[in-house]
Amino acid sequence: ATPISITTAAGRGAQAGVLIKDAEALERMAAVDTLIVDKTGTLTMGKPKLTNTVALADITQADLLSLAAALERGSEHPLAEAIVEGAETKGANRQNAADFEAVTGKGVRGKVGGRSVALGNAAMMREMGLDTGAAEEKADTFRLEGKTAMFIAVDDVLAGMVAVADPIKDSTAQAIRELHAQGLRVIMATGDNERTAQAVAGKLGIDEVRAGVLPEAKKELIDQLRRDGHKIAMAGDGVNDAPALAAADVGIAMGTGADVAMESAGITLLGGDLMGIVRARKLARASLRNIK
Ligand code: ADP
Ligand code: MG
Repeated sequence: ATPISITTAAGRGAQAGVLIKDAEALERMAAVDTLIVDKTGTLTMGKPKLTNTVALADITQADLLSLAAALERGSEHPLAEAIVEGAETKGANRQNAADFEAVTGKGVRGKVGGRSVALGNAAMMREMGLDTGAAEEKADTFRLEGKTAMFIAVDDVLAGMVAVADPIKDSTAQAIRELHAQGLRVIMATGDNERTAQAVAGKLGIDEVRAGVLPEAKKELIDQLRRDGHKIAMAGDGVNDAPALAAADVGIAMGTGADVAMESAGITLLGGDLMGIVRARKLARASLRNIK
């Protein structure tokens, strides 16, 4: 390919929905050898849908959904939206929550109709002093399908489970293939469960999976890889991803995600299409040849 100027590269990027913040972001992109990607909203559409509700105690599915939705109305997490929407579609009673609290990377809790309710992953249940052991087999059946399983505790009893599915974006598989062809290693870092993460990664040929990582740990992973001499691009969409995006050599935000993610990033993919990373890298290398 013919060398192009940085201005030309930025212009061509913009036409394709790849917004490059400055010359530095472009130059660094040319040297990247490892791409770290968040799962939800980056590899997947970020529009999860409620698919399953399971009662594990003497409670109806409708009551479980009513309690879950009451809590999730207070959360801005994409999973919360899926649960509220699913509960409303199924006609669950509308209740209000008090003493609402969100626990980053784990779940939500509060009081609903005088009962203490918690909803989240196994770590969230452990924090409430509950063991998910008896329900793990059922949860695994959902995780192996790439779904996210969440537990519901009511008054210190494991009362149920919900599962949501978030489809992989149409262009993700091709983007990963082309990034591999460009010589990049692709690592998924997600707060989600190991089995769910592996199910999604397996479909996409992702090289390595770090599951169950809290937002701070995503940043530490990047710091470690950079100390080992790697040049890192990090792609993410969430408020949670902002520290990791800022820590990477190049932060890549989904234009479909949170504003703070975009503020922390050197490159923004307007439509959230990962083929934009392939394009950014080609433009970066073409303009680098021109500098040298
Ligand atoms: P990701 O890295 O996929 O964006 P998070 O770090 O935000 O994930 O969350 C990790 C896990 O914590 C989720 O997979 C889910 O099990 C649980 N969790 C987080 N927030 C919520 C919530 N509002 N409701 C239920 N579960 C939640
Ligand atoms: Mg995310």
